[in-house]
Amino acid sequence: MTLLLIRGGTVVSPTGRSAADVLVDDETIAAVLAPGQAEALGIAPERGGIAGASSDITTIDATGKYVIPGGVDVHTHMELPFGGTAASDTFETGTIAAAWGGVTTIVDFAVQRTGESVLDGLAEWHRKADGNCAIDYGFHQIIGGVDDESLKAMTYLVDNEGITSFKLFMAYPGVFYADDGQILRAMQNAGESGAMVMMHAENGIAIDVLVAQALARGETDPRFHSLTRPAELEGEATHRAISLSKVAGNVPLYIVHMSASEALHEVAAARHLGQNVFGETCPQYLYLSLEDQLAQPGFEGAKWVCSTPLRSKHEHHHADLWKGLRMNELAVVSTDHCPFCMKEQKELGLGDFSKIPNGIGGVEHRMELLYQGVVTGELSLERWVETCATTPARLFGLYPTKGIVAPGADADIVVWDPDGHTTIGLEHKHHMNMDHSAYEGFEVDGKVDTVLSRGSVVVGDDKFHGRAGHGKFLKRGLSQYLV
Ligand SMILES: [Zn+2]
Repeated sequence: MTLLLIRGGTVVSPTGRSAADVLVDDETIAAVLAPGQAEALGIAPERGGIAGASSDITTIDATGKYVIPGGVDVHTHMELPFGGTAASDTFETGTIAAAWGGVTTIVDFAVQRTGESVLDGLAEWHRKADGNCAIDYGFHQIIGGVDDESLKAMTYLVDNEGITSFKLFMAYPGVFYADDGQILRAMQNAGESGAMVMMHAENGIAIDVLVAQALARGETDPRFHSLTRPAELEGEATHRAISLSKVAGNVPLYIVHMSASEALHEVAAARHLGQNVFGETCPQYLYLSLEDQLAQPGFEGAKWVCSTPLRSKHEHHHADLWKGLRMNELAVVSTDHCPFCMKEQKELGLGDFSKIPNGIGGVEHRMELLYQGVVTGELSLERWVETCATTPARLFGLYPTKGIVAPGADADIVVWDPDGHTTIGLEHKHHMNMDHSAYEGFEVDGKVDTVLSRGSVVVGDDKFHGRAGHGKFLKRGLSQYLV
């Protein structure tokens, strides 16, 4: 029996916080103990006393700190091929960076492109990840070509492979795009097996017209990436996806990476009517803007080319997204981690913004960036834990193994120091495999102190103690958190 005691901290869950010690037995949380119980049970020495029989128990001192479930980031793209290159983090570098940021589970996207087989795509993703992850991981499956074969594969994945969520795209024709008929068929299929449909909701057909027109006018700078993807086309696609999911039988629908008020209002309205619709946003949409980042002079703005795009800070999107998080119109904050270096990757779009690989890296910074919402009063401490760990675990069939500090759960635990302070960026030695940071120079309050993945300390004393291959593939169940 290997016992470990996290002592003296404040355990935080979505429903509250309490002073408690957390007893870990091997890979699992054995007990959450009221103060004094560990001493009474003889598994910890009296404070200031001599460790007697209990000296073989490892103790982590969490005095003055929060003890929270490890972060669950349900939207990452390690090694994703895109636009003639591939996302620069491997499963190894990306999951190590995630661990540094207090994330103990990722759910990445296995890819089927138009014309390819779903099962081949999944096998390729297993090859990339197997033996390389420092933390636990699962997969969603991208369905880039809805046909009889891929519909059959969807059912197979739910029944046999622990893959219970499928991402469709209303953008990127010829690569991932599904038309309305295909979307309806995939939703009906998901409804039969109880799976969740995830949607990239932007009207890609209209966007491609705007992109071609902009390029013809000589508008090639990175900022035109946002100007050719107007908020109305995110709102319109979101509305259409919600309508289709209702027609398909109120099939659970999760709108990924929402950046526009127009889209948020559609999700809020559907939820008000009791539809199983959930919204996700990412730190970049809460903190970064068209004016301050994407429109930087020259080619600098390429760092912030992602889809959906960063939006104008003068149009209320930021404030609305924060409010949406507070009011549970938005359920989850993930990162859409999809890093590309400037050199040789983002540079592919020099002189043509439409060729800039789409993506921002942020898997390392989500917990600390969202914690700033706690510091400023935008979010409660409990809501921070809920949106970054508990709800993503519930929505994607990982709860209560993941996403909560409770007896029986995996010992995926972060000791969080509210008095810590760090500066984000390449210059401050981030761990993602990127030659820049989307958040360079951002100063944040609060800091990861210690991270446990299934009972093993993977980060502590500002050192990485984990290893590639520690992370296990998670077969997920169905969503447990419908309206
Ligand atoms: Zn994505």
